[in-house]
Amino acid sequence: MSELAIIRDGGMLIRDGAIEMVASSDHIAKNSPGAEIVDVGGRVVLPGFVDAHTHPVFAGNRLNDFERRARGESYEQIASAGGGIWSTVEKTRAATSEELLIEAQKHVGWFLRCGTTTIEAKSGYGLTVEDELKILRVLRRLSEQTPLEIAPTLLGAHAVPRDMNAHEYTDLVINEMLPRVSHEKLAEFCDVFCERGYFDVQQSRKIFTAAKDCGLQLRGHVDQLSNSGGAKLMAELRARTADHLEKTDEDGIAAMKSAGVQPVLLPASVYALGLSDYPRAREMIQGGLGVVIATDFNPGSSPTPSMPMILSLACTQMKMSPEEAVTAATINAACSLNRANNIGSLEQGKLANFAIFDCEDYRELAYWFGMPQIHSVYVRGERVV
Ligand SMILES: [Zn+2]
Repeated sequence: MSELAIIRDGGMLIRDGAIEMVASSDHIAKNSPGAEIVDVGGRVVLPGFVDAHTHPVFAGNRLNDFERRARGESYEQIASAGGGIWSTVEKTRAATSEELLIEAQKHVGWFLRCGTTTIEAKSGYGLTVEDELKILRVLRRLSEQTPLEIAPTLLGAHAVPRDMNAHEYTDLVINEMLPRVSHEKLAEFCDVFCERGYFDVQQSRKIFTAAKDCGLQLRGHVDQLSNSGGAKLMAELRARTADHLEKTDEDGIAAMKSAGVQPVLLPASVYALGLSDYPRAREMIQGGLGVVIATDFNPGSSPTPSMPMILSLACTQMKMSPEEAVTAATINAACSLNRANNIGSLEQGKLANFAIFDCEDYRELAYWFGMPQIHSVYVRGERVV
């Protein structure tokens, strides 16, 4: 994770949206007569960020929760005042597809302006069969109508709806939601919020097993609030990723390692909630895990689309090096989405998805935090920002 293979005075030859050659600028110029030249003036060029954990389709915001939390109110106080995830679910259910699409297009613009060219995107604010399908169909339209590439995930089991218990809702997800999503090919992955008060390990295992039978790969919200065995469950199920992991211990880390599960760390949700228990990134890296970092973009606990902010948090709060953070935000993330052959690095044969930053050294991205450094962004060779 510490080797970035930087090319100084480097260049790329791009044809038909793909990278045809990567070499020194001189070599490219000599070997591609007639090509249009874009001189980036010594700036840093990186692969477009791959944000492997986001919740971009929802209605409304959680500004009142944000203010209450700033005043020191607890999650329970905020929920009893009508806040929390349920307020987002109610607004999202009431919104039309068109309304959700317009809001989500705004979020897509934010991702692109931060240098992100691919996101993994979850449903999860509908919590009925029709509302979860509505969200996944909005994701499909976003993918068709915007330059951002989207890997969709069904997170039907994000929370237990108010009119059911967890057992009944687990059955609904397995018997009705998953077959519909699979039939319409609306998702590549299935995710579950595995936590006491949401879906316990047994319920999560049932949903994940059914999802695998439907041909979906697995990602899971695990060990965020308590060390409840979620990382071990993801290892047992040979999941693609285990996400959050704030409370995962060395046993969970060892289980992920032996099963080849990639950890997806979400430091902005720790930061935005004003907490301090960041996941054990150093132990995971030293243990040889393919660590990924992502925004967890969502209206409640992590309202940021900014991967440069995540790079800053990775270095300052999780003691990752700038090189490790860049790797975790690009090629490792692409690998977790089964897209390492197409994106995540600037190599011959891959898509020409890249971002140009107004700095001379990649370490400046994590160093000058809270300031946009983006110069321009390209997807499949076309400038989009
Ligand atoms: Zn999440």
